[in-house]
Amino acid sequence: MLGGAPFELHVGLAGLLGLLIGSFLNVVIYRLPKMMEQQWAAECAALADDGAVPLSHAPVSVAAAEKFNLLVPRSRCSSCGHVIAWHENIPVFSYLFLRGKCAVCAAPYGLRYPAVELATGLLFAFCVWRWGWSVTALLWCGFSAALLTLALIDWDTTLLPDDINLPLLWAGLIAAALQWNPAVSLPDALWGAVAGYVSLWLVYWAFKLVTGKEGMGYGDFKLFAVLGAWFGWAALVPIILMASVIGAVIGLAMKFSGGLREGGYIPFGPFLAGAGFTAMVFGPQSILRFVGL
Ligand SMILES: [Zn+2]
Repeated sequence: MLGGAPFELHVGLAGLLGLLIGSFLNVVIYRLPKMMEQQWAAECAALADDGAVPLSHAPVSVAAAEKFNLLVPRSRCSSCGHVIAWHENIPVFSYLFLRGKCAVCAAPYGLRYPAVELATGLLFAFCVWRWGWSVTALLWCGFSAALLTLALIDWDTTLLPDDINLPLLWAGLIAAALQWNPAVSLPDALWGAVAGYVSLWLVYWAFKLVTGKEGMGYGDFKLFAVLGAWFGWAALVPIILMASVIGAVIGLAMKFSGGLREGGYIPFGPFLAGAGFTAMVFGPQSILRFVGL
């Protein structure tokens, strides 16, 4: 259908598709952690009912009466409860048209919503520019969407949901096995996943034994395993180098600007994701050249 259309049109269409998917990612980023919280609360309440957990320790907010998932209820303004109409929900354009404010109460919407939509649009456009309309391009679009979602959920909540991490790990291994990701062989992907997980697991325990503190979470090991599965074991060193250096720089900047949250904990996932995007766009080995190795 688009066979004769110019290449720019294909890339543009991919960008538009990315804007729409980005709009959905905003919903996932906001709702998935709340859904996980509700599930934990419900499980704790069930344990309390069984007498396994004293009631005083069970979370109080078990008011999961209203159905709440990625599709329902419709998005609302968090200030006035106004249900967002479809024409107020067009990626980026509605934000510009409404000048970033609720149409009813004029409460400002975060710049983050259009930024996520725009980032997804650019990533999708890049994938189709780089790989054409192919299974490979679709895979990297999926990778980009999932990685962006993980990074922002981790930044907001310090959680890296298994619901995204684990399918992404399997997808990387299957893509290598079927050679839909021709840059990586199955053994390279498999050992990448193993080495990614085990290396951070070892760092975690070494850090814990020496300092008595937990420096990372298990979600970080899984995300590093994901990157090993998608880029192969040889990419792990450049990726961890880049993530650590940028993480340290931003951590220090936040410390001196007083922007650290309570406990001084900075999630590592966003930096792993940033290194993952760099590896996707420029190739993993180029990271070593960036840092002068
Ligand atoms: Zn409002």
